[in-house]
Amino acid sequence: MNRQRMDVTIVGGGMVGMAQAALLAVRHPQLRISLLEASPVEPRVSPDGYDARVVALTEASRALLEEVGVWQHIAGQRECPYTQMRVWDAEGTGSVYFDCGDVKLPNLGHIVENNVILAALRARIDELSNVELVTGFKLESWWRDCGLWHLQSRSPERDVVEGLDNQSPVFTTRLLIGADGARSRVRDMLRIRTRDVEYQQTALVCVAKCEQSHQSTAWQRFLNTGPLAFLPLSGLGDDRHCAVVWSADDSLARELVMLDDKAFALNLEKAFESRLGTIESVSERFSFALRARHAESYFGPGAALIGDAAHSIHPLAGQGVNLGFMDVLVLTEEVGRALKREISPAHASVLSRYQRRRRGENAATLKAMSTFKSLFGAGDLHWRWLRNTGLSMVDASPLLKKRIIMRAMSV
Ligand SMILES: Cc1cc2nc3c(=O)[nH]c(=O)nc-3n(C[C@H](O)[C@H](O)[C@H](O)COP(=O)(O)OP(=O)(O)OC[C@H]3O[C@@H](n4cnc5c(N)ncnc54)[C@H](O)[C@@H]3O)c2cc1C
Repeated sequence: MNRQRMDVTIVGGGMVGMAQAALLAVRHPQLRISLLEASPVEPRVSPDGYDARVVALTEASRALLEEVGVWQHIAGQRECPYTQMRVWDAEGTGSVYFDCGDVKLPNLGHIVENNVILAALRARIDELSNVELVTGFKLESWWRDCGLWHLQSRSPERDVVEGLDNQSPVFTTRLLIGADGARSRVRDMLRIRTRDVEYQQTALVCVAKCEQSHQSTAWQRFLNTGPLAFLPLSGLGDDRHCAVVWSADDSLARELVMLDDKAFALNLEKAFESRLGTIESVSERFSFALRARHAESYFGPGAALIGDAAHSIHPLAGQGVNLGFMDVLVLTEEVGRALKREISPAHASVLSRYQRRRRGENAATLKAMSTFKSLFGAGDLHWRWLRNTGLSMVDASPLLKKRIIMRAMSV
């Protein structure tokens, strides 16, 4: 049996897992790190069209990608800095306009396609000599002894039944990091429960080509069936493409999914009040059931959870991956602190400090998103008045706007 002994093993090579591997490797070259990813497929950037899945990166996330040597490959190619943000209520006159000039910054953030980030991180991981990336490795079985985790992609019993004589390699590690997404196997393995909120909404995502320029603006209209966002894209030669994230109550989403492209584009244009003129075309649509999920603990013996494995959140404020990147930053700081003090990075005191620094922060963001979702979903007059007045008050207060922007950018 092929056995490999590692200091740190990360399960899950999505954006958060790859960023974790890269940051640990860059800051602590003495660590031996493995990154185990279930998918055998390499992330690819299509040269002809935009990926419909995008994220709005905060300045803190951009800085992290720069530190690991990835932002340099993304900047100026396939990312769109947005300088303004317009948020308005479909039922009333309340609206807020944010401008990067309010905080004397060049932009409010960057819209980047998921595949662009994944491909850039993958290229960087391949360059880092202290990271071993294993693709096509789906964690299925594990055991723990003498303070070490042993991880295998298939159960030894299955190997015996299939006559493979334990062919699948075993990764042995001091510190195990679960970055394996919302349905985390590592979290299950640690028997960590989650608190779940079903939003009863589905997010439909696609790319829309609009008649007019997106004006480097992130647009969000709150309908009482859910928020609709148009996020600006650039890198393929024009400024009329937007990534659409339409979070809609399940019944409406089911109807929208059934429409042909022409009818869907018409509905989209109407829901967006034709703010960017007619919708000339829409790409293939993808849908995601929305649910908030928060792990009751972020660590178990010798193991920590990061990213969507620890928390998943409504996309209305576009914070999911940004929270995950902040987990990466804090866990790396705590590992660094442990190494300096010559204690094991897998020690419970290290992992509980990580949890203390991240769980409360993430819980507050999750709560705020659920409150927003309920507030904007409420149809009665009282709530409509309250939220429209609230939006107008924020819009009229430069100080409040500045605080909101600075807070949102530091996540
Ligand atoms: C519609 C929508 C819009 C969004 N918009 C934004 C936005 O604007 N801004 C933002 O910050 N966030 C946004 N998000 C959230 C963001 O996409 C997620 O928070 C982010 O992708 C989570 O990254 P992750 O690496 O933690 O998990 P994932 O992306 O789920 O990656 C997990 C990885 O683990 C692997 N894996 C799973 N199980 C195993 C196993 N057993 N063994 C080995 N590997 C395994 C998977 O193959 C995958 O590669 C949005 C989400 C949705 C649904």
